[in-house]
This record gives sequence, structure tokens and C-alpha cells, in this order.
Amino acid sequence: MYAFQFERATDAQAAVAKLKADGDAKFLAGGQSLLAAMKLRLASPSMLVDVARIPGMADIKVQGDAVVIGAAARHADVAANAEVMRRIPGLASLALGIGDRQVRAMGTLGGSLANDDPAADYPAAVLALNATVVTDRREIPADSFFKGLYETALAPDELITAVRFPVPDQSGYVKFRNPASRFALVGVMVARSGKTVRVAVTGAADSVFRAPALEQALTASFTPAAARAVKVDASGLNADLHASPEYRAHLIPVLASRAVEQALKG
Ligand SMILES: Cc1cc2nc3c(=O)[nH]c(=O)nc-3n(C[C@H](O)[C@H](O)[C@H](O)COP(=O)(O)OP(=O)(O)OC[C@H]3O[C@@H](n4cnc5c(N)ncnc54)[C@H](O)[C@@H]3O)c2cc1C
Repeated sequence: MYAFQFERATDAQAAVAKLKADGDAKFLAGGQSLLAAMKLRLASPSMLVDVARIPGMADIKVQGDAVVIGAAARHADVAANAEVMRRIPGLASLALGIGDRQVRAMGTLGGSLANDDPAADYPAAVLALNATVVTDRREIPADSFFKGLYETALAPDELITAVRFPVPDQSGYVKFRNPASRFALVGVMVARSGKTVRVAVTGAADSVFRAPALEQALTASFTPAAARAVKVDASGLNADLHASPEYRAHLIPVLASRAVEQALKG
């Protein structure tokens, strides 16, 4: 590790001002991705601005027909929150499946979304649940947030403060995980709200994406069999030492059908 400055922000505006003043500064939340990148010299910020202890930014609240989760909420806190478990059980079970105990104790929702790892779990929840990413300056709909490999709609000095998740009628998330890191080789989130079904897939491509064929099939019949009958084209899917594009394509409807089973159990 090399020398850098460290500041602990007391509010969102102060944190953003630090980044505006120093173009090489970065926000630090749980450090589970950023510190590893720094150790590998893939990132070399001049200053880290700690945003994990900004008062109120880890709160989890019910607001109308949505659950609003602060960007600094740790994965373990989301997994164990009674309102999340009761209202969006698919999201609670997703958070419980992230990494190991230490990663869940440190990693945050905002850090995961800003990092936008192609195999991360939360992007699937944000997209399938049609959530809104709230920042210090605007609100970004899920469909406009994820832009590509490790790329989001955020400006370099833009701070995610919270994410607003509308409560669906039913939701489920199932991933086929890398046994070492527990990142998703493929992960599928399904959410049904009235007659609308949204399906988001992570781990399979450069970035999370919606699966229109699965959405159509599950809108017609919200059953595991309907998901399993969908054929997914392997072109454009990731190939690595863990899985071929064809294997990932095979997994998508299989995991979608299991996510529907989970959603139907409630
Ligand atoms: C061993 C291991 C296993 C893991 N397994 C999984 C897994 O199974 N599934 C999974 O999804 N993830 C997994 N992760 C990643 C983990 O979820 C991280 O917590 C997450 O990617 C980053 O969150 P963080 O709070 O640690 O962010 P940090 O590492 O602190 O920051 C990451 C990036 O986000 C930026 N940032 C942080 N907070 C904000 C904010 N509020 N607004 C804007 N930018 C911000 C930082 O500047 C940085 O660029 C794993 C990590 C490790 C080390």
C-alpha cells in the first residue's frame, strides 16, 4: 500500500465537496472492493473519503409502498432487517448470500452498486425490482443506472445516498455461485408486481441485464415450468475458466425457475 490521505465525512455534501476539490479522491465505504484494488495497484486515489459513518446513511425505512435502504447499509444489516425480510424476502435472501461473513459485515449496498462488478448480486435486485438509485443530486431509475463493465451512470464525484425499492407482490433470487468467492457465475432475480414481471440476470455478461423472453413467459404464467421452457441464446455471454457461454445460457432459465419457486413460497 502507498501513502494517501484519509478523511471521514460527516455529511453527504461535505463528502462530495472533498471529491470535487480533488479529482483523484475516492469515496470509501466497506472497502471490500476498493482496498483490494488499491493493494493490486489497480486504483491509486490521493485521498479516501469515508462515507460509511455518515449519520442516517445506513438507515432502512419503509416509506409508502417502498423500502428505502441507505447506501451505507451493510449486507448483513439488509439480510437481517425485519422489514426487508417481510416485504421483499428475495432481497433479504440475496443479501444473505453475498460473500462470507466478513464481506457481509463490511460491504455496503452503495459500494456494491457504484462498483458494479459484473458478477455482483445487488444489481440484479435493483433492476428486477425497478428500484431508484438516489444520489446527492438526483434520482436514477434502475433501467438507466447500469451502463456496462464496472460502469454506471454516476459522475465521478456523485454519492449514492440511498436506494428506493418498491415492494413487489412476490420476489426471489437464486444464484449459481463461485464456490471460492461466492460471486454469481449466474444469478437471476424475479419480481412480480400485479401483472408485471421483471427478470434480471447478473454474472452472465459484461453487466446485469433484463431477460425479455423470461419476462414474457412469466407474465403469461408465473410458474417454474414457464421459466424452464424458455431457451436463452448464448451469444454475448461470458466465457471464463468457470463456465462457457452455453453453460451460462443453460443456467439462466434453470435459476429463473428456482427463483420463481422461492417467490411463490414467499
Ligand atoms: C472475498 C469477497 C467475496 C465477495 N463476494 C461477493 C458476492 O458473493 N456477491 C457480491 O455481490 N459481492 C461480493 N463481494 C463484493 C462486496 O459485496 C463488496 O462489499 C462490494 O463490491 C463493495 O462494497 P463496499 O462497501 O466494500 O465498497 P468499497 O470497496 O468501499 O467501494 C467500492 C467502490 O464504490 C465507491 N463507493 C462506495 N460507496 C459509494 C457511494 N455511497 N456512492 C458512490 N460511490 C461509492 C468507491 O469509491 C469505490 O469505487 C465480495 C468481496 C470479497 C472481498
